[in-house]
Amino acid sequence: MSTSGDFDCIVIGAGIQGSFTAYQLAKKNKKTLLLEQFVVPHSRGSSHGQTRIIRKAYEQDFYTHMMEEGYKLWAQLEKEAGVKVYRQTGLLIMGPEKNNNYQMIKNTLQRNKVPVVNLTRDNFSQHIPLVNLSEGDEAMVDTTAGVLFADRALKTVQGQFQKLGGVIRDNEKVTDIKPGPVVRVSTTVGIYHAKSLVITAGPWTNKLLAHTGLQLPLEVVKINVCYWKEKVPGSYNVTKRFPCFIQIECLESKEHIYGLPSNEYPGLVKICYHMGSKTDPDQRDLQKDRSDIDILQRYIARCLPGLVPEPAVVESCLYTLTPDHHFVLDYHPAYSNIVIGAGFSGHGFKFGPIIGKLLCELSLGEVPSYDLSPFRMRRFEAKIGSAL
Ligand SMILES: Cc1cc2nc3c(=O)[nH]c(=O)nc-3n(C[C@H](O)[C@H](O)[C@H](O)COP(=O)(O)OP(=O)(O)OC[C@H]3O[C@@H](n4cnc5c(N)ncnc54)[C@H](O)[C@@H]3O)c2cc1C
Repeated sequence: MSTSGDFDCIVIGAGIQGSFTAYQLAKKNKKTLLLEQFVVPHSRGSSHGQTRIIRKAYEQDFYTHMMEEGYKLWAQLEKEAGVKVYRQTGLLIMGPEKNNNYQMIKNTLQRNKVPVVNLTRDNFSQHIPLVNLSEGDEAMVDTTAGVLFADRALKTVQGQFQKLGGVIRDNEKVTDIKPGPVVRVSTTVGIYHAKSLVITAGPWTNKLLAHTGLQLPLEVVKINVCYWKEKVPGSYNVTKRFPCFIQIECLESKEHIYGLPSNEYPGLVKICYHMGSKTDPDQRDLQKDRSDIDILQRYIARCLPGLVPEPAVVESCLYTLTPDHHFVLDYHPAYSNIVIGAGFSGHGFKFGPIIGKLLCELSLGEVPSYDLSPFRMRRFEAKIGSAL
């Protein structure tokens, strides 16, 4: 095996978080290596597919605050690369009037002066035809929200990283990490050394952390990404002003259901259940649970009368969940030159530029731009014990 080079920083995992981290490091003139186990682009992790929702609508102020800058950084990337990655569509949020999460989102939007249109039962169908608002539900639209073109965004940020002199080595799986003042990273192809290491390995995070004596309370679940046929083609697309939507809770489920205007496949609309079934990321396709699809079928039959309540296409994607669904952005408890970004819990894509900035700051020993206390590992102390 060859010894293949020395770097200021090595980033493991070329999903959206690792790619933005590498890009930020390269912007600061750090000699950076981005390692990826698969040939890019690939569809085995969490960052593939054409679309993701971007929004400021959150229960917690800290996410809304981060997204204030998040939007600016996405726009900056668009400008730098001359590529469009965002389309404003608005986000329709529906939920029972008395639902705590719905009210928390409403309050956060109000407190932070995010432009919102509150819909009433009387004017709902005029604004949003072809959606039935459930009995007892309220509805509002976060007008700043929209769609990120995910595959295009990932390719763009990787391209910008390379333009800055960054090195991507794909088809190169990390097989060992030897911590120390200089970290040694072994792959299926070579051995690399760096002053610091960032681990952004998505669903594989614990497999990599095992080399460093740490395990986080992460659960990997498979999401069935479902596309539903429009009865009249074009009725749920952006030209018909159909927005992204989140149903906070409904008759069929306590968990969120979300959808985006038709984009990937003509005449098909992506609508998913915000939870899945436990899986090993290397055996994703052996997980065949479809109970989420049953829930979606019943919801669609009741609330989206313009769609055929039978999925026309089902794809797969992985969530890596933390117990509280907040991210992990922190130093390794035993090695201060190893930084971990993990547990993006099915809502991390939109934060990519901010996560990249924060992980870059941590790896350079700078003061992070945001209060990271919601994201520290300390909150899992009871679960990971002595490692902290
Ligand atoms: C169906 C679905 C819908 C979603 N919708 C939204 C949304 O609307 N809005 C939103 O903001 N977010 C959304 N998300 C969440 C978002 O996509 C994820 O939070 C984000 O993509 C996580 O990125 P990541 O870089 O952490 O992980 P990944 O994309 O999985 O990247 C990790 C990378 O590390 C690599 N790797 C792992 N181990 C090794 C190794 N040993 N050696 C080398 N490389 C390795 C992997 O191959 C992988 O490429 C959604 C996710 C899914 C699945």
